Amino acid sequence: MLLDADIKAQLSQYLQLMEGDILLKVSAGTDDVSRDMLLLIDELATMSSHIKVERTELERTPSFSVNRIGEDTGVTFAGIPLGHEFTSLVLALLQVSGRAPKVDQKVIDQIKAIKGEYRFESYISLTCHNCPDVVQALNIMSILNPGISHTMIDGAAYKAEVESKNIMAVPTVFLNGENFGGGRMSIEEILAKMGSGTDASELSDKEPFDVLVVGGGPAGASAAIYAARKGIRTGIVAERFGGQVMDTMGIENFIGTKYTEGPKVAASLEEHVKEYDIDVMNLQRAKSLEKNEFVEIELENGAVLKSKTVILSTGARWRNVGVPGEAEFKNKGVAYCPHCDGPLFAGKRVAVIGGGNSGIEAAIDLAGIVKHVTVLEFAAELKADAVLQERLNSLPNVTVIKNAQTKEIMGTDKVNGITYLDRETEEVKHIELEGIFVQIGLVPNTDWLGEGIERTRMGEIVVDKHGATSIPGVFAAGDCTDSAYKQIIISMGSGATAALGAFDYLIRN
Ligand SMILES: Cc1cc2nc3c(=O)[nH]c(=O)nc-3n(C[C@H](O)[C@H](O)[C@H](O)COP(=O)(O)OP(=O)(O)OC[C@H]3O[C@@H](n4cnc5c(N)ncnc54)[C@H](O)[C@@H]3O)c2cc1C
Repeated sequence: MLLDADIKAQLSQYLQLMEGDILLKVSAGTDDVSRDMLLLIDELATMSSHIKVERTELERTPSFSVNRIGEDTGVTFAGIPLGHEFTSLVLALLQVSGRAPKVDQKVIDQIKAIKGEYRFESYISLTCHNCPDVVQALNIMSILNPGISHTMIDGAAYKAEVESKNIMAVPTVFLNGENFGGGRMSIEEILAKMGSGTDASELSDKEPFDVLVVGGGPAGASAAIYAARKGIRTGIVAERFGGQVMDTMGIENFIGTKYTEGPKVAASLEEHVKEYDIDVMNLQRAKSLEKNEFVEIELENGAVLKSKTVILSTGARWRNVGVPGEAEFKNKGVAYCPHCDGPLFAGKRVAVIGGGNSGIEAAIDLAGIVKHVTVLEFAAELKADAVLQERLNSLPNVTVIKNAQTKEIMGTDKVNGITYLDRETEEVKHIELEGIFVQIGLVPNTDWLGEGIERTRMGEIVVDKHGATSIPGVFAAGDCTDSAYKQIIISMGSGATAALGAFDYLIRN
């Protein structure tokens, strides 16, 4: 038995929602993964009379495809979709059986209108929390469009393939054999990348807003909801709705909720925003701000949005270490997300750059998977909380090097070492290793604003107690501002403040 009793009980409830018969085509050998995969398929088939099974030979063994009777959908799982991919399996079974996927009709129409042959392959790990979104999006696209197919490939079951393609970060997506992209991607992002996005003129033709929020993280969502609740014309333009919480695993300080996960918070933010009459323009990046009669926000695609007030809530992004080799070896051994990419370094040697809370959490996490972790801290002492340092010190396969200034990340086609300066002895030292996790904090996403708005030395937008910036009518909230602390509830609170500040400004002007 591969599934425990709880999962079986849940699964059997879900399978009752199947709307028609489906055919699982199974390609299995005599290896252990094939044996477990066959056990899973047998269990599925005994749980629903809608599930038929046929043995066949597919491109990869072990793998199985999920099809309508008499029609291949192109949805294939190479490996066993348990762990974080269990939901992807359940959704594929339901959607292929005829249950409608939960996506907007506009998106469904966009997918159906795509012409041509698109063969997607996504490399994932079963512990990656960013992977299921990509797998599920590509599966929906395969189910809705006969020209699109998608195979999910579990890197742990296909180690040789992962090595030969030099895949060192998940999810990594290939389209028709070429690298298509990596990291968490929503269905809208995939469609935009395929050239099926919103027209610039459609955006420029919009009437001016009363409040236009730039950024769709916790601060932006909160600002938009507070503004819309005042009954004023509100829009929100975001490069990626959800913001940093999309990359966050467990959240234990979202007050009122003992434990939740980033993607769940992001989904409920989106759901809450959509409850109101808010014009959501996702996957649009702002490129400049100008104050004329209205505040004008120019987007990367050339469209210009006008508004009486603007709330900037563009958050922050991972800080790069900025040494030679970092950009060159990104996703080729240089990684930023230990939860996602840690399993790809199983049994290997890695370094974590940064001795703050996130660096030490990453080192503890990685020590359970990899052969050895070296922590490189620039300062003379680690900055992480004492409790984390104690836990770190108890681990046998971790070395901490303080006063270490990273100089270069080296490699050939992938990382093979790191060079640092010992700031005490002035000696340059080299460590041979296969992976580097950069964990040195965040930088505010404010470089696009130019010089017109007052910012701190760190680039954070200076705001007053109403969230107002140095430009009248322009407000700011969240991690992109000079607020002392950067947290979800703090961002949400400042988003609310900025919206109320903007409303006040509209009344007075
Ligand atoms: C790994 C990790 C774990 C964390 N864990 C916790 C935790 O447990 N608890 C907690 O309270 N906080 C946690 N945080 C911090 C928390 O996520 C942030 O404080 C919070 O998300 C900030 O919200 P924000 O809306 O200001 O910015 P962000 O979440 O960064 O959102 C910014 C938004 O602006 C958009 N954007 C950026 N530039 C542009 C542009 N030019 N044009 C248009 N849109 C743009 C982005 O796409 C995004 O939609 C964590 C952060 C990270 C990275």
